[in-house]
Amino acid sequence: MKIPFFNYPSLFNQRKEEYLEVITDALDRGAFIMQKDLIEFEERLSSLLGVKYAIGMADGTMSLIIALRASGVGNDDEVILPSHTFAASAASIVHVGAKPLLVDCGKDHLIDPQSIQKAITDKTKAIMPVQLNGRTADMDSIQRIAKKNNIIIVEDSCQALGSKFNNQFAGTFGAAGTFSFFPAKTLGCFGDGGAIVTNSQKIAEKVRLLRDHGRDENDGKVKSFGYNSRLDNVQAAVLNLKLNYYTEDINRRRAIAKIYDEMLKGLDSLDLPPGPSSNEKNYDIYQNYEIEADDRDGLQNFLDSKGIGTIRQWGGYALHQFEDLNLKLDGPNYTDEMTKRFLLLPMHPLLTDDEVKYICDQIIKFY
Ligand SMILES: *Cc1c(COP(=O)(O)O)cnc(C)c1O
Repeated sequence: MKIPFFNYPSLFNQRKEEYLEVITDALDRGAFIMQKDLIEFEERLSSLLGVKYAIGMADGTMSLIIALRASGVGNDDEVILPSHTFAASAASIVHVGAKPLLVDCGKDHLIDPQSIQKAITDKTKAIMPVQLNGRTADMDSIQRIAKKNNIIIVEDSCQALGSKFNNQFAGTFGAAGTFSFFPAKTLGCFGDGGAIVTNSQKIAEKVRLLRDHGRDENDGKVKSFGYNSRLDNVQAAVLNLKLNYYTEDINRRRAIAKIYDEMLKGLDSLDLPPGPSSNEKNYDIYQNYEIEADDRDGLQNFLDSKGIGTIRQWGGYALHQFEDLNLKLDGPNYTDEMTKRFLLLPMHPLLTDDEVKYICDQIIKFY
């Protein structure tokens, strides 16, 4: 069997005819930028998440930058985020003139609330929880810390569209939340795409200005210096079609996670992510299935020899381990231990049960 980590051609090939129809329709109308497909997508996204405003953006990284700016984060502010995240999370903080302060993660690989509390200074303006791998952090604790210290929350929920904590969707807990529609994301388009969600009218208005050169949608006057960071209308048309299948896709991811969980949980050499029904507070969408493994390199080579693609998230490093970024995470920390053992197993809706079982059988064989 040959099981690549992610199957990019299938993203299009799976529903080729339907995609060609919606793309052709948008192109025939000359509907390239800020047209009805984008408006429809924004309306559907906001109603899906139960949030007042959703604004389509060029990508997840620009969503983070503009969400921070529109929420008032800027020069000399400090923003707390986990070290186990994409470079884009910290880059967005640097690009608004603020300073990223890295903290540790817990056993579930998400930001550790106790480490947040310890990192707060009188310059802390915001917490950026990263809802990694499709799981939402303990937002009860994080909201309590934010409130007590009078700081805001801007969520990097780029990996967590549809994930919930206490029945509330990732992205809706703070001042603003961000999403990415990069092809490998759970709702992936055919290129780059992103969105910001917020319940604040003030933040939503700023975001709309900033994403379109500072231009006021009503009178066309430039009200501030902005960016070009719009979600392409053709991508919005593709995303509208993909949204029709989103629940189905997430259910499939959860079913795959359940097979991994049941077949692998007896192995002492592995630590698995929480199973799909392991805790009633969390509803996980399994953007990724990130395990920790003894002899991780040996396992990865063995699986490779059996045709199974795996990857180490972020190339195998937490942000404080990139010397050139000069970011610190004071030890002892769990993140350093975790990055010696972490590994992503294949996880996408088109994997068959037989493929998932084959992967598990090979892992069992290795140990
Ligand atoms: C994908 C992702 C982003 C944003 O990525 P873009 O490629 O800019 O859309 C940000 N943070 C995390 C954690 C991500 O996984």
